[in-house]
Amino acid sequence: MVTTALQPCPVFIGGEWREIGELATSPVYNPSRGEVIAEVPMCGTEIVNDAVNAAADAFPAWRDTPPVERARLFFRYRQLVEENFDRICQMVTREHGKTLAEARGSIFRGLENIEYACGIPTLLMGDSLENIARGVDCETLLKPLGVCVGITPFNFPAMVPMWMFPLALACGNTFVLKPSEKVPLTANYIVELLEKAGLPKGVLNVVHGGRECVDALLTHPKVRAISFVGSSPVAKHIYETGTRHGKRVQANGGAKNYLVIMPDADVPRTVEALATAAFGCAGERCMAGSTALTVGAAAARVLPSLVEAARAIRVGPTDVPAQPDMGPVITAQHRDRVVSLVEGSESQGAQVICDGRNQRIPEAPNGFFLGATIVDQVENEMTIAREEVFGPVLNVMRMEDLDQAIELANQSAYGNGAAIFTNSGKAAREFKHRVKAGMVGINVGVPATMAMFPFTGWNESFYGDLHIQGKEGVQFYTQQKVISSRWFGHGVGDVWKK
Ligand code: NAD
Repeated sequence: MVTTALQPCPVFIGGEWREIGELATSPVYNPSRGEVIAEVPMCGTEIVNDAVNAAADAFPAWRDTPPVERARLFFRYRQLVEENFDRICQMVTREHGKTLAEARGSIFRGLENIEYACGIPTLLMGDSLENIARGVDCETLLKPLGVCVGITPFNFPAMVPMWMFPLALACGNTFVLKPSEKVPLTANYIVELLEKAGLPKGVLNVVHGGRECVDALLTHPKVRAISFVGSSPVAKHIYETGTRHGKRVQANGGAKNYLVIMPDADVPRTVEALATAAFGCAGERCMAGSTALTVGAAAARVLPSLVEAARAIRVGPTDVPAQPDMGPVITAQHRDRVVSLVEGSESQGAQVICDGRNQRIPEAPNGFFLGATIVDQVENEMTIAREEVFGPVLNVMRMEDLDQAIELANQSAYGNGAAIFTNSGKAAREFKHRVKAGMVGINVGVPATMAMFPFTGWNESFYGDLHIQGKEGVQFYTQQKVISSRWFGHGVGDVWKK
């Protein structure tokens, strides 16, 4: 493996960037080149303790900072993120492999979360009712929890952390972020920008590592709440361990999202939406459309153009000015896993009608590339039909009618997103009501929600009660206090009733 000059990857604790020399490390790659670009320290209990203590110490002053002042920090942060937008996108592209256009899209989503947090003075307003009984008034206050933790996946190096810390901090909490060890550099950079915006010391801290680091966070007595995004088995572990230790937990997991194509769907628009949903971000999205359920004649109408569109997708390195349509996947191991799932489906009787397994890129021979792949005649018993592939692979399953398609989608263990392509309002309505998924698209292939709406996975796509983003996000990061008050007499020195 080629190794270039390594980028530093410090932790950020109590307002200080600290290089940790003595710990074991894990390599960070530029997936376009297969090169190691940094070594991330695998922090354990000691560093986690320092970070949580710094956050706990910073909490009282930050809690007492007026919400309008906390909002001002995020107005300044928003400005800095916008001014450094291209730099963030390049960092995402370099350590994750997304195209610049995909990175831009994700940072816009992140910005919207910062903008949402700027509205915190209004979002934190409680309710009040005068005279709940004679002379008694009642009001609710939304109080911060204390130290909150964010544990994030590799596939959106900036956006997913931005789903969490802006709102958590705006609500008055302090925070420890544990980014994915595969993409720690962008996370460090977006925190550096918050520091430039005027972040007080200890209010946001960053630690790096894997399971040991996460487990130290999950069990730390001073941690009050945990936001997690990643795969379902880890989400379940986070939820179970965190709640067992008395924490509030929201844990987003993996997905298997179904796209139903009715025979009356608009062909060019559906093909475009399917190609984006399945192959955008090289399929490394929890909202990727991973299975097309073609109903009746829809297969014959849509598949030829879809195969053509998939074959036309140009794959290549994303760290160059001439951008491809699709970049690499995150690691060589992940590429090999995706290939083996496709091979397994073939041996179980499926047909690979567009084959991206042997994608070779002469100018980047060590990159972790895969071409767009379509597997037809997939049956529900096959491994590829059930497991999350998380690569540029679209399964096609042939359905007789809408009922069969909805029933099949509803057998999935997951329930993140689902979409239907049709010109029939009645079919769309039926689908919308019956499909068991948290985010539903009608002629929209990737119905991922924006900052003002909750990100509502169902089943094994989510463990917890209150989702990330929107009003549920505010509820997650606050606890309510209800004050009932009444007053007797006139008080000493009162002049209003002399
Ligand atoms: P992952 O579960 O491997 O890792 C996520 C985080 O958990 C990382 O920070 C990692 O260090 C930590 N982690 C990994 N194994 C752990 C363990 N055994 N114990 C404790 N912590 C552990 O996920 P990933 O591969 O980084 O990301 C891809 C997954 O994330 C996919 O399944 C995708 O669907 C999911 N995802 C879900 C959403 C959503 O909102 N539902 C959004 C983005 C990604």
